Amino acid sequence: MLNENFTWNRTTDVLVVGTGFAGLSAAIEARTHNVDVLVIEKMNSYGGNSIISDGGIAAPNTHLQKKYMIKDDAALMYQDMLTAGLGLNYPNLLKTLVANAENAFRWTIDELGVPYMDRVDLFGGHSVPRCYTPEGKSGATILKRMISKTESLDIPIEYRVSFQEFLVDAAGKVIGATVLENYDYKSHSGTISHIKVRKGIILATGGYGADVPFRQLQDPRLTSEISTTNKPFTTAEGLKAALKINAAAVQLSQIQLGAWSSPDEKGYGHGPLFADYILFQYGVIIDPKDTKRFVNELGDRKTTGDAILSIGHPCLGIADHHAVSQSGWDISKAIKKGVVNTFESLDHLATHYDLNLHDLKNTINTYNDYVSQGSDPDYGKQIVEDARPIVSPPFYAMRLWPKVHFTMGGLGITEKAQVLDYNGKIIEGLYAAGEVAGGVHGASRLGSCAITECIVFGRIAGQMVSSR
Ligand SMILES: Cc1cc2nc3c(=O)[nH]c(=O)nc-3n(C[C@H](O)[C@H](O)[C@H](O)COP(=O)(O)OP(=O)(O)OC[C@H]3O[C@@H](n4cnc5c(N)ncnc54)[C@H](O)[C@@H]3O)c2cc1C
Repeated sequence: MLNENFTWNRTTDVLVVGTGFAGLSAAIEARTHNVDVLVIEKMNSYGGNSIISDGGIAAPNTHLQKKYMIKDDAALMYQDMLTAGLGLNYPNLLKTLVANAENAFRWTIDELGVPYMDRVDLFGGHSVPRCYTPEGKSGATILKRMISKTESLDIPIEYRVSFQEFLVDAAGKVIGATVLENYDYKSHSGTISHIKVRKGIILATGGYGADVPFRQLQDPRLTSEISTTNKPFTTAEGLKAALKINAAAVQLSQIQLGAWSSPDEKGYGHGPLFADYILFQYGVIIDPKDTKRFVNELGDRKTTGDAILSIGHPCLGIADHHAVSQSGWDISKAIKKGVVNTFESLDHLATHYDLNLHDLKNTINTYNDYVSQGSDPDYGKQIVEDARPIVSPPFYAMRLWPKVHFTMGGLGITEKAQVLDYNGKIIEGLYAAGEVAGGVHGASRLGSCAITECIVFGRIAGQMVSSR
């Protein structure tokens, strides 16, 4: 809030908080529209969760889909995201996302020069393959090109500057921010400074997946016992500062668990490459206690994650040689780390995990019949075109236990990335994009749709703020 006893230390047209996909997309777009932009980042390097992501981006109607003769359009992507989101997605935001997704993907290629692999992947909940992976299978591939772009546009990025609170005028318009410079993350200390903005602030501080007290308030199951794939500094302070000036929070309890996580490694790790890109498409997940399937492996993340959590102990995913070779992915790191184990026969696999071999074979035989007939009457799993019965050794197995991965809730925004208050009115001078904003995904985000969201709404925020 505006306090009489301070002086502005400096002024910029636009202040962007955060150096993930959303913040950098916004900064690039605003600068391209000829305004002064300052980017601040609380940590001593850029990237947030964006840089550790897989870099998977989803879009319909792309050149790669055309090449592989995949029929898709914005309406189908809308429907898939709405189904996964249990209809809780804000229609205006979802429409904006799907309408601009192809353009956002194109922008990363044409404007940033991001190289993508020549493949299109299908993830749970998408009805057609529409996910693209950058070379290196890492968000760093995209993020480093965004950083190069900020350099070529002379956009200053200041590290160890932590945003603390918004400064508003008598009419409630955001006119600046209090920050801590030379910020020390461990002691949360630094030197107070006040930055005045002529046009506005774009908040792109990410989600709250690692903020245990805050997330547990929203969903009491998510205690410190549940690990996270997020960086430890993925906390809610930016969001909470917006709440203090009456910004509206939406759907904060909608927190996604990554169903493809392994309890046998820390953080995101190497297991998800096997689980999310191979196992869910071609394999089965069983409860080791009764060796039965219990969920649609290709369901959306919330469905699968919640189902695993509800059985109360890690479950087991099993796929075979055909699955791994057909996928084209290299899972040697997961094997080397012991997160994925290989077995010459189902007998060996059953012995290793102390499973009843007879029951295991029954489960796999039943599933194999479903694959041959092209439908799964038990859980409605989509049998992908190149799926084959699980028969060819070696067999691959991985233990699965969900980790907090993504927060669908956040600040209420308009389709123009303007932050709303609790009366549904726009807070002048304040924009939000990326994971700090809420409502696009409803109850469950589909794989690869977060990066699309960051770029679509980050760019919109950058365009909007510069036009003020
Ligand atoms: C391991 C992993 C893999 C993923 N893979 C994918 C994928 O393949 N496809 C996909 O679509 N999604 C994926 N996601 C989700 C996606 O990466 C994130 O939702 C997205 O990157 C968030 O971007 P963002 O810009 O909103 O926030 P972030 O990238 O988290 O950036 C926020 C930045 O703001 C900074 N910040 C926060 N508070 C302050 C403050 N007070 N002052 C100054 N700076 C601050 C943070 O330090 C951080 O650098 C993945 C997530 C994880 C964790």
